[in-house]
Amino acid sequence: MEARHWVKQQFEQAGMTVHMDGVGNVCGRYVPAENPEANERPAVLIGSHLDSVPAGGMFDGTLGVIAGLECVRVIKENNITINRPIEVIGTSEEEGRFGGMLGAQALTGNLTFDWLESAQDPTGEYLKEALEKCGFDVHQALHARRDPDDIRAFLELHIEQGPVLEIEKKPVGVVDGISGVFKWLIKFVGKPDHAGTAPMNMRSDAFMGVADFAHELSRIIDEEGTDYTRLTIGRVDLKPGFAHTIPGEAHFTLVGRDMEKEVMKQVALSCNKVLSSIARKHNLKFTYEQLSWIEPKHFSEQLIGQIEKHAKDCELDYMRMPSGAGHDCQFFTDLVPTGLIFVKSVGGISHAPDEWSHWDDIEKGSNLLLRTLIELATED
Ligand SMILES: [Zn+2]
Repeated sequence: MEARHWVKQQFEQAGMTVHMDGVGNVCGRYVPAENPEANERPAVLIGSHLDSVPAGGMFDGTLGVIAGLECVRVIKENNITINRPIEVIGTSEEEGRFGGMLGAQALTGNLTFDWLESAQDPTGEYLKEALEKCGFDVHQALHARRDPDDIRAFLELHIEQGPVLEIEKKPVGVVDGISGVFKWLIKFVGKPDHAGTAPMNMRSDAFMGVADFAHELSRIIDEEGTDYTRLTIGRVDLKPGFAHTIPGEAHFTLVGRDMEKEVMKQVALSCNKVLSSIARKHNLKFTYEQLSWIEPKHFSEQLIGQIEKHAKDCELDYMRMPSGAGHDCQFFTDLVPTGLIFVKSVGGISHAPDEWSHWDDIEKGSNLLLRTLIELATED
């Protein structure tokens, strides 16, 4: 809340009209005094998030909000006449403490009241209680939705959070899409047994199933995936979990990603087949539950083209790339032209205090954002 109030003040000082919606999105709207009719036209939105992960860095999210603020300052200081409003939005709760991207979902009408009522964080705190503590009313959350007819485009600037731009020696990336992602909870059930007396060839060891499957992931990607496919086992729970007992059960997560829906389906199918055959081999029962399936998002080719044109005009050494991580802007792609600009992350590090981007790279990304914004905001 402290961060929100600070950003609100900055927006006001830059000449924006500010409001905070029912889920805590801080929205600063700039309409030039000399052109008040512009307010009636669809706005260009610039957004990213104000929250972070525990012990995170200082760029993830906030950079996009501050870059948007700086763009408005530059437009105002240089008396650039714009024909439509610019709105800079610091979104709420993007990092998924409650399992979604609350702010962006609220803005785009991707919330249901059932979810708002039932969403909990890992400690069991309800979203509606957390909202109340901050002075919000869960009943106002659905009113945060914006009519897509009132939005000309959504632009986001964000750090890459990965190593590709650094490896390719490019300061800035123009993102053309966001990976789809599926998340499974898989269970192997075998037989807990004495680790000393049960012969090796008579065991139903659930962990051996996990180990075999982990070794198959790269083959599944080679056969069914693309350069953008990712498969990750991020959590394994063994039961009963004693050093001297054969694990009778293994519960583990599998997260899969790719840029194409059909590839995701093929990879998922292949994982299923491999899991079945591993279960037979180790005499295990195998079940899985699909916890989520989010389709890949592809950004507007026209807006990508506009961003690229500006990158070329200012001789910026950029590359086109997909995003493996989710971002606020993904919820806008089906509604309005949407663009995402990446700034190089040093060492690819993110979600850690060492997260860093060089200020001259940030300047390049911000100037690309500014040029694109001016084109969109000054068009007739
Ligand atoms: Zn982020």
